[in-house]
Amino acid sequence: MIGVLALQGNFDSHVKILEKINLNHKLVKDSKDLSSLSGLILPGGESTTISNLLRRNKNMIDEINLLASKKPILGSCAGLILMSKNSNDNRVHNFDFLDITTDRNAYGRQVYSFEAEINVKYGKISSNLNSLFIRAPKVNEIGRKVEILATYKNEIVAVKQGKHVGLSCHPELLDETLIHEICFKGKK
Ligand code: GLN
Repeated sequence: MIGVLALQGNFDSHVKILEKINLNHKLVKDSKDLSSLSGLILPGGESTTISNLLRRNKNMIDEINLLASKKPILGSCAGLILMSKNSNDNRVHNFDFLDITTDRNAYGRQVYSFEAEINVKYGKISSNLNSLFIRAPKVNEIGRKVEILATYKNEIVAVKQGKHVGLSCHPELLDETLIHEICFKGKK
């Protein structure tokens, strides 16, 4: 059972992807929803808002940390910002699941949102995925344990560290399943 954090943001589109790849799922709105999951998705949305809602429910932060020590976490866009070790904005709760720093809204405002093909390379996989960039963050520094999963125009747009995967854009909004399969089905 994969949980999808459903406090704010585009959790619905992740649910659709999990359905498409036949993984059971449930929406996570409270700490009790986090027990006995086999993975968790932190969706896009507004990282400051999601952080506020999480900080109001401290148990949730503790439970997410506990889950991440055992099971994979996938974060997209705001989710990636939350997973990074630092995003230079103290309104954001940084879980530090990924040894990267992120810069919020680094591609510009909503009007500068765009669709692009990102190039995914992982194991035997080499594939172009359609993806949406919506007020996307950029990944700045990356630690040595972080693998680069995908790039777009020389920017790092998806990373993997151990079990955890984070991406700055939204392939799930264009029905792409590959990143979810890599994270939760061990596809290589
Ligand atoms: N700009 C948002 C933030 O900083 C992220 C946007 C998104 O998730 N599509 O939280």
